[in-house]
Amino acid sequence: MDSHRKIILIAGPIVLMSVCFLLTLSTAKDSRPTPPPRQISVDVVSPLKNDADSRMRQACENIAQEIVAQIDRGNAVLIRPPYVIAGDMPEDALERLYQNVVQPTERALNVGFFDARPTEPITIVAFAKEVGFREYARRVDRRPAQSYYGYYLRDHRRLVVNVSTGAGTLAHELTHALAHFDFPNMPEWFDEGLASVFEQSEFSDTNHRLTGTDNWRVHHVLRAMHENHLRPTGDLVQGKSVRANNEAIDYAHARYVCLFLQDQQLLEPFYRKLRSRAETDPTGWQTLREIVARENATDLDADFHRWVVKYHKTQRQRTVRKDGQTLSMKPFETPPETIAADVAK
Ligand SMILES: [Zn+2]
Repeated sequence: MDSHRKIILIAGPIVLMSVCFLLTLSTAKDSRPTPPPRQISVDVVSPLKNDADSRMRQACENIAQEIVAQIDRGNAVLIRPPYVIAGDMPEDALERLYQNVVQPTERALNVGFFDARPTEPITIVAFAKEVGFREYARRVDRRPAQSYYGYYLRDHRRLVVNVSTGAGTLAHELTHALAHFDFPNMPEWFDEGLASVFEQSEFSDTNHRLTGTDNWRVHHVLRAMHENHLRPTGDLVQGKSVRANNEAIDYAHARYVCLFLQDQQLLEPFYRKLRSRAETDPTGWQTLREIVARENATDLDADFHRWVVKYHKTQRQRTVRKDGQTLSMKPFETPPETIAADVAK
């Protein structure tokens, strides 16, 4: 082999590879930056049935774009109309939250209470850890650092939850969000009472019904009763809002009035009557006395007090289901006196 041919055989491939490498460099320099990994996961399985579905999907996508900017890059945003679900969890964890908590809770609440379907997106921002929840609450919503469980912002139809406190926290805030469409003028005591019922609840075997059970809030009621400062139920119901300085007691009181009704199979009828009479009995005081057949407020409170003690005793003796059909919300660990500002809103 002559030396000229040898040079071509050895140097040729090197030159060719170098040219290719330089071409790659110039292409990379000219092209736009590589887009970030796709963060928005759209539910493409369910077909769009009509214009309303299509509008809802579009509205969800618009909100998803806003939420993507609020959370860490790399975390997923799911679109499952009417829900936009985001947080500090990977996509499969958000999907499980949707399928195991959001869907069955909505289904059961619709069977029991709600007739109107959401007509606008509901955003769920769920955090697996308290630190992420607190950071988001402070940064995005300017919420005080002592926020612990979760909150629902009516104006944005957005609920933000610390799911490390239990799936019951999500059920509580989701109840507010769904009720907002079905009964926008629900009095505050009942809004909080009803939402609190489902923070500790059990699904029926068919998964179609959700029943509230006893939880840590009972101790606020029992202690207030014991110390003789549980205000009359009529004051709770007719008050404009829960008292800021006695929030924990008022929330607990409202929850147990709802459970008092539930125990007599009266919670769902009360909800429907209250909704239909929102103009004439906006607080529900008249409707409440009628449905429990106690016109006299003192008699009603006497019945309620006796019932709370008996119910708590009975519930303590029952076996709690451990088959995953339960929603619960952990108690806050500080003494009840300091819980006031921290209860889920
Ligand atoms: Zn609430």
